[in-house]
Amino acid sequence: MWRAGRNTAIILNIFMARGAYEMKKSVCEDFLLIAGPCSVESRIQICSIARDVKAGGATLLRGGAFKSRTSPHDFQGIGEDGIKFLLEAKKETGLPIVSEIPGISYLRLFEDVDVIQVGARNMQNFELLKELGKTDKTVLLKRGLSSTLEELLFSAEYIMEGGNSDVILCERGIRTFERSTRNTLDLSAVPLLKSMSDLPVIVDPSHGTGIDFLVRPMSLAAVAAGADGLMIEVHNDPENALCDGAQSLTPSAFKELADDIKKLRTVLYGT
Ligand code: PEP
Ligand code: MN
Repeated sequence: MWRAGRNTAIILNIFMARGAYEMKKSVCEDFLLIAGPCSVESRIQICSIARDVKAGGATLLRGGAFKSRTSPHDFQGIGEDGIKFLLEAKKETGLPIVSEIPGISYLRLFEDVDVIQVGARNMQNFELLKELGKTDKTVLLKRGLSSTLEELLFSAEYIMEGGNSDVILCERGIRTFERSTRNTLDLSAVPLLKSMSDLPVIVDPSHGTGIDFLVRPMSLAAVAAGADGLMIEVHNDPENALCDGAQSLTPSAFKELADDIKKLRTVLYGT
């Protein structure tokens, strides 16, 4: 595993020490295809999308119950009910669930959540990371809006130092001068992070681009770059989604993409 060295000024000079942490088996043994809405909106909505993405080939269901939005005027999520409805969708479909934790004090609500997501805006919430390091939960750590790969790996180490090495890294786009896309998806992060650590690396092309028709090509590119998984926003009614409809795929577009991801992985990796 990557370990911070004394001379970390240049990213390619980072000192790497694989095996520094004991890697735990996580949900991550196979390709991770995480799909679901940006936000849980209702029981009916999340259960219906859960059934659809499962039929489409998803291996985990995502959904935000607490939404850490940039603007306080935007929809903030339905809160505790969102976790309750996700658990119902999990029970119905058997899909493990992923949801974002907004802060340490919410930990008790995430007891039955399989993968705890640390959002981009919380990547350097070190007290939260340390607390998650004391749990036995899989942690999905998203890259901060303007964070370097080095900073992302330091954040992963905050979790792992506590004894929890079940961490998944997620490239979700970074802030650049380019305004045509919501963020600039840095796919070079995938092979770089994999060369620097043993941690699984997944890609979120939905937040990485912000535009529905870019999700498919960027997903396939991420697979070609060696990603261990993808996190894709899927909504049954993108136009009326309470959050991030513009970057959400319909269930049928998701299924088509999932089929092609499978084909591409077979061609490239024989899996
Ligand atoms: C999300 O995945 O729901 C999300 C808010 O993403 P990010 O933290 O990457 O902005
Ligand atoms: Mn979203």
